[in-house]
Amino acid sequence: MRWALIGASRIASSYMIDAMRAGEGSSIASVLSSDAARGEAYAREHGIARSFTDLNDLLGDDSVDAVYISTTNEKHHAQALASISAGKHVLCEKPLAMTLDEAGEMVRAADERGVVFATNHHLRNAGSHLAIRELIRSGRIGRVLSARVFHAVNLPEVLRGWRINNAAAGGGVIPDITVHDADTIRFHLGEDPEEVVARAGASGLGEGVEDSVMSVWSMPSGTMVETHESFTHPFAGTGIEFHGTEGSIFARNVMTQEPVGDIRLVDASGETPIPFEKHNLYEYSLGLFASAVNGSGRPSADGVDGVKSLAVALAVREAALTGKAVRVGYGGF
Ligand code: NDP
Repeated sequence: MRWALIGASRIASSYMIDAMRAGEGSSIASVLSSDAARGEAYAREHGIARSFTDLNDLLGDDSVDAVYISTTNEKHHAQALASISAGKHVLCEKPLAMTLDEAGEMVRAADERGVVFATNHHLRNAGSHLAIRELIRSGRIGRVLSARVFHAVNLPEVLRGWRINNAAAGGGVIPDITVHDADTIRFHLGEDPEEVVARAGASGLGEGVEDSVMSVWSMPSGTMVETHESFTHPFAGTGIEFHGTEGSIFARNVMTQEPVGDIRLVDASGETPIPFEKHNLYEYSLGLFASAVNGSGRPSADGVDGVKSLAVALAVREAALTGKAVRVGYGGF
């Protein structure tokens, strides 16, 4: 797999470049930046042979099989459509786009062009979440009655740019974190939220965008879900819980980019620690993406998963803005 990076981003330099290079036969051809000097410096620092400022030049390289889009959110849509039209497979960062229509257009375009299109929702690749899903699917907690997601973090200083002050670039905790929680809940429960209520606000960091949100989601099965996402909580820690008729799952420190955390199952026989694999989340995801490109299996989170997580996040934001319960529309997916 020969990759091109669209966006000289921190997520690429912190995680994705190393994860791509860890894949067998996988390499990085080039990087796109809107700023020539930044692109050149980024390429030099990360040992990437070429940098471009024109997307068409990058896409014109026939040796490139796939692109990884990690620009700010408002750019994903146009960059994905151009990449798809050039016949490249696409791994796009979440949220896929600013609107549901745009995200749907990206997924349909990829289908029509016959390229693989995936969303970089990392949590479903974690050994912890794979183990939790297995507990739920194998019936260890019986019928799932409720779920709780704790995803209130302390946004590191280096990430306090567009995320906290630029709504036009897709800032705010809802497109940043709620979208991941939507994907994670869908992954575990195998169903899509039907209706949401929410409250959001700024609690110290947000300038014109929300930095904290709490929401409650109704699932078709009757399972109730509550979530809390924030940028302003230094000591809260993260976690997820599932409570069923036969047991409860308590997972702590698992809403993270690292392969860490702990899981306990509590049921009539007492409390059992649950072991899980501690592999790199992004390498795991890229492995599934490469297999899908080679015709076997599907990406970890595909385009439809990206559309649906965005749909839930947009509904949560609308519910918070209006104070009303909002039915989640999935744009025909
Ligand atoms: P960054 O802020 O690091 O990068 C986004 C864009 O900002 C880059 O494409 C770059 O533009 C521009 N930029 C970078 N450095 C500078 C600078 N010094 N001055 C001016 N502009 C600069 O974003 P993130 O890496 O935090 O996020 C990128 C995307 O990835 C988002 O969609 C986000 O939601 C997603 N993300 C996903 C994660 C996951 O685990 N799945 C985790 C973190 C982010 P240019 O390319 O034009 O140079």
